Amino acid sequence: MYKMMTPGPTQVRENVRLARARECGNPDIDEEFFDFYKETCNLISRLLYTENETLILSGEGILGLEAACASLTEPGDKVLVLDNGIFGKGFADFVSLYGGIPQMYTVDGRNPIDAQALAEFLEKDHDYKYATLVHCDTPSGILNDIGSLCPLLKKYGILTVVDAVSSMFGEEVRVDDWGIDILCGGSQKAVSAPPGLTFVTVSADAKKAMEERKTPIASFYANLQVFEGYYEAKWFPYTMPISDIYGLRQAMDNIAADKDMLARHAKIAEACRKSLIKAGLKLHLQSGFSSTVTVFDVPEGTTAQEILDIMRKEHNILLAGSFGSLAGKVIRIGHMGSNANEKDMEETMEALLQTLKK
Ligand SMILES: *Cc1c(COP(=O)(O)O)cnc(C)c1O
Repeated sequence: MYKMMTPGPTQVRENVRLARARECGNPDIDEEFFDFYKETCNLISRLLYTENETLILSGEGILGLEAACASLTEPGDKVLVLDNGIFGKGFADFVSLYGGIPQMYTVDGRNPIDAQALAEFLEKDHDYKYATLVHCDTPSGILNDIGSLCPLLKKYGILTVVDAVSSMFGEEVRVDDWGIDILCGGSQKAVSAPPGLTFVTVSADAKKAMEERKTPIASFYANLQVFEGYYEAKWFPYTMPISDIYGLRQAMDNIAADKDMLARHAKIAEACRKSLIKAGLKLHLQSGFSSTVTVFDVPEGTTAQEILDIMRKEHNILLAGSFGSLAGKVIRIGHMGSNANEKDMEETMEALLQTLKK
């Protein structure tokens, strides 16, 4: 096996893998599993500083994003799509799919969205049901300051849907303080469980918007309302992936026990950026660096594929290229979750230096 230094999926600790090997009961019937599921949801809420309910859905991060849009969007609803990256832009597709009208707010992808500029925009134009934002837009690594953007949107009564799949637990996320109505996470980034699960936190305002809909939610699997009252009724809308949830719980317990997690991410990310600059490489971003992923431009005279191949074949380290408009142009180093440790970063930097010399 290679050393996985990609920005998701990330390395999975042995205790998480072993938790997934536990004996399985019947998650549809076993009352203890309803408690286990709910306790796991409560733990996630606590780690994200919120009183809002968390729901774990069976599907990767993308399902969380789609479920948020499916559950909030009614035909004709205007939705503000904040876009300075590929995931940011991608939200417009989910909005359109459910009949909404996305209004793009597109800005330069090498810097975070500026709160002052957004405030000026909203001053004139704020008639939106909700807005979509991405905390860390992973293909470029840009980190948006959702702590100032979300309260601004809420001031105008605009609900906030935030994709924090690749930032949470490597960057601070405070759902209640920041007024995030639906926050989306995934199992395979800094959480460091295998891919397969998404989880969302849902505010009272978001639930109210769902209740007040005039048209039904045009999905079952992506409908967050179908979980309403599941615990009291002891009835899940579909059979829960029990082994995945055992693994997720262990990963969340690991996070809860790791008091140093955010500081370690910040330190390792900074060391990574400094090393790349010292080696003469150019960071892709001008500002807004995330502590979970570092992205650099492919230098002249070589290709992304060549760098990735040598890293993989000669050094046994897996890095990632990017996709969309950034395909072939940048290399991404994922230092989130279990990847964020000094030893792996040091080996990665050393191998990258040898690769670039070659
Ligand atoms: C990884 C990721 C997702 C989820 O994508 P999957 O294809 O389900 O892994 C969503 N948003 C962001 C910003 C991500 O990095």
